[in-house]
Amino acid sequence: MQKQLLNKILVFIFLFTPALLKAQDCATFKEWHALKSAQPLPTASVAERASYNNNLWHAVNHTGELIFESYLASQYNSKEVDLCIKSEDDKLDLQISLTKAFLWGTIEKLKQSESEKIASFAKSIEERLNRTNLPDFRLVGHLNIDPDLPYRGGFHRGQKSVFLNFDLISPNEWYIIFIHEFSHYMDDELRSSTDIYNRKDDVKRIAEAVRSSGCLQDLSPEIRSLLDSWLIAGLNRGFLAEYRAWTKTIDLYLEGLKINSWQEIPLLESFLSSYDQDENLSSYVFKKLDRQFADPNEGIFSLKIIQETLSIVRDDLRKTHR
Ligand SMILES: [Zn+2]
Repeated sequence: MQKQLLNKILVFIFLFTPALLKAQDCATFKEWHALKSAQPLPTASVAERASYNNNLWHAVNHTGELIFESYLASQYNSKEVDLCIKSEDDKLDLQISLTKAFLWGTIEKLKQSESEKIASFAKSIEERLNRTNLPDFRLVGHLNIDPDLPYRGGFHRGQKSVFLNFDLISPNEWYIIFIHEFSHYMDDELRSSTDIYNRKDDVKRIAEAVRSSGCLQDLSPEIRSLLDSWLIAGLNRGFLAEYRAWTKTIDLYLEGLKINSWQEIPLLESFLSSYDQDENLSSYVFKKLDRQFADPNEGIFSLKIIQETLSIVRDDLRKTHR
């Protein structure tokens, strides 16, 4: 008899679990959904409709903030989003509110850091973002399927914007990847060098001069100096940009570790495995990355004179970064 009862209870749980989950899982969207179900009729007064829109927008933004907090607490549930947000308009609203919540929420939390270095970096990002009207940040993940999706994050050199894919980033790594990509964003040298490196006329002049020369010494001082600045610009948007961003990232990573802002990150720990606390951090990062960045050998870089010059430029850099 007791066994039969138990079976009945199990069947009941089995049958009703999806329904219970459904109700429980939309908890994050409760405020938003409640407002939507009380939407005023088209005949309502202007003031009533304005107040509704205002409250709705507030609720949507608040939902974004709740999701950001649950993500940081490793409790983000993408199934809940699928289950509770159905219409394309709502998805778009949620995407906008998530982008705001993840960007400004992260900056706000970093600004409140006990570490002066971390706090002031966050303030400088905030100031720069406030000066621009461009959409300099894109949050990718879940609702927003994007060609950049296979990547966790990046700084788009052409658009000069940051994107981060929170679906692929563990909450413990979120701040570090954010700091890394925004280090690129804040890097003025990277911004100006990208423009220099992309000057097609200069590249054409260099290639023509190099092709009609037998050796490096044949190049005119003008072309030689143009070539040097073009190669340095190339390094400044590639290898040196990573060197600067990683030096900043690791410096702040170590700061945050000391005050428990995040836990150890295996990738960074292995990068730092031979780092000696007394060593200069930027020289260490330079040496580590220098080994990983091979010179390109395609296109104009297949020309021997270009390869030779690049190798001289890199040797000079090694001397100044000892
Ligand atoms: Zn980078």
